Amino acid sequence: MPGYSHILLAVDFSASAEAVAGKALQLSQAFAAKLSLIHVVEFVPVDLSNELVLPQAPEMDQELLQLAEQRLKELATRLGIKECPCTVVQGNTRREILRVAEENGVDLIVLGSHGRQGIQLLLGSTANAVLHGAPCDVLAVRVKD
Ligand code: AMP
Repeated sequence: MPGYSHILLAVDFSASAEAVAGKALQLSQAFAAKLSLIHVVEFVPVDLSNELVLPQAPEMDQELLQLAEQRLKELATRLGIKECPCTVVQGNTRREILRVAEENGVDLIVLGSHGRQGIQLLLGSTANAVLHGAPCDVLAVRVKD
């Protein structure tokens, strides 16, 4: 049976993120596959009529991107993942995960069955959306409540 050569792990920094990452790491070791990490910073709607309360959007975006990159690297270090490419992009989570998977020849996307939005759905919204548009296999790691 052919294995996997490039695994993309989608990280949302929720409570289950490390467990999901652990599974992706195990698979990458089992298949001697490359492992890449991605976090998508969703667009934050800014109320332009209320400039006094919110910081300038570009500065805020930049800070969020830098923070996410740092957290991805910390997660990789904690799990002992060496030299793994970490991608942080801004945009729509589903679209960016699929785009990065396609552009990088990913053959397995690993994500949590549920993330920040809890387990009220059979599959979380991101897992469901990615599964329906993916050009490759998708593993939704079961996240318990
Ligand atoms: P959810 O749609 O919130 O139930 O999330 C399900 C899974 O999708 C999470 O466990 C993550 O693996 C992935 N995910 C959700 N949001 C993001 C995000 N902003 N960036 C990367 N992966 C995400």
